[in-house]
Amino acid sequence: MAEHPGESKPLTDGGSNKFPVEEFARFHGKLKEIRASLAASLDERGDISPLTGDVVSERISSGKAALELPVALPDEGALCDAAIRILDVAVENDVFDKPEADAAKKTIEGGGLDIVALTSVVVTGDSNTVEKVALESGLALDTLLFLVEQLARATLTWHSSRVKGLLEDEVKTSRTGTCPVCGNHPRLSIIEGEEGVRKLVCGMCETIWRYKRIGCPFCGSEDQKKFRRFTVDDEPGLSALLCDVCKRYLKQIDRRKLGDGEYGVTELETMSSRFDILARREGYR
Ligand SMILES: [Zn+2]
Ligand SMILES: [Zn+2]
Repeated sequence: MAEHPGESKPLTDGGSNKFPVEEFARFHGKLKEIRASLAASLDERGDISPLTGDVVSERISSGKAALELPVALPDEGALCDAAIRILDVAVENDVFDKPEADAAKKTIEGGGLDIVALTSVVVTGDSNTVEKVALESGLALDTLLFLVEQLARATLTWHSSRVKGLLEDEVKTSRTGTCPVCGNHPRLSIIEGEEGVRKLVCGMCETIWRYKRIGCPFCGSEDQKKFRRFTVDDEPGLSALLCDVCKRYLKQIDRRKLGDGEYGVTELETMSSRFDILARREGYR
């Protein structure tokens, strides 16, 4: 069957009923609030020129993503405030080590981190610069990357919402492995509808677009022998596709198995969080 590529190997996390779904839901909900307030600070700027359909169509037809990166960012104060709030929320929910988060806070508050520059590179999908900064500053890479990705995501989701109406057709017909709006990689794939159409959800700007049923959007491989799938017994609609060509993973949600609930991106992300842990533990990213 199409959604069960060869050599699918169900694994468990050895204690699935212990997975703290409620904590994750609360954590993701808080992050969403912080991103929304950062987005509101972009609304207030008023100096970001509106995009036109012509510009967007021209970019798309020449094979580019709709947004020209890097995009305009929230101002430094808003980014720093959001960063501190994210660190606090991550500590409250046991996602980061307190000492790691405190070190990051101290560096940000002391002006030792160029948060504007970092957000600006992460918006373009560049994580190498973050690695370099983590090494130089002695901050934990995971902490820093998570933090800046949240800032970049808030920013890109805001920009993406301004473009969406301009390129509905392009998004509908796009079949690329990267986001047609911002050019970043997907975070999730969704199977839906009677025919089981496969869609991808951008990890940065939350755009949803269609993709071929079989294949890895990161490297384009269609070799089913190179794919494995993680599943857990108590969540039949959720899985993660692991690609052994590029060592990336993609969480997959089969909406047809979720019942009638209308789940948004944040809810889908929360319910599939367990697979991030499983896949990363196996060395996929
Ligand atoms: Zn995107
Ligand atoms: Zn791949």
